[in-house]
Amino acid sequence: VKGKLPSTPERRALMGRVRQMDTAAELAVGSALRRLGRRYRKNVRSLPGSPDFANKSAKWAIFVHGCFWHRHSDCRRTTTPRSNTKFWQDKFDRNVERDARNQVALCDAGFRVLIVWECQTQQAETALRDFFESRRI
Ligand SMILES: [Zn+2]
Repeated sequence: VKGKLPSTPERRALMGRVRQMDTAAELAVGSALRRLGRRYRKNVRSLPGSPDFANKSAKWAIFVHGCFWHRHSDCRRTTTPRSNTKFWQDKFDRNVERDARNQVALCDAGFRVLIVWECQTQQAETALRDFFESRRI
């Protein structure tokens, strides 16, 4: 991670909270996939962006994105810390750019890609079912 800021208790708390929410969201998507009977691998490093869930032979990939880090638009969780705004903005810009690049690379490789936003994990199962049905996977 480029760009250094001194670690403050406030920042550590924020990062910890964000990480925990990511984990909860991933658990919800994993169990929804199992209920739907979809086979998957987790954190597939051999694919662009290391999708959180993917099935290489069925050619689908799912990212579970934290709204804060990945900048879910029009979402109340997509806040920007008030201090060191430039540091954060640069970091967010890089994340968004990287996400877009990875999605394009996956699509070019013939993968169907779904983003599940952390704030939408309550409805993950519906979103996943729609994804598989509409893309005929
Ligand atoms: Zn969101």
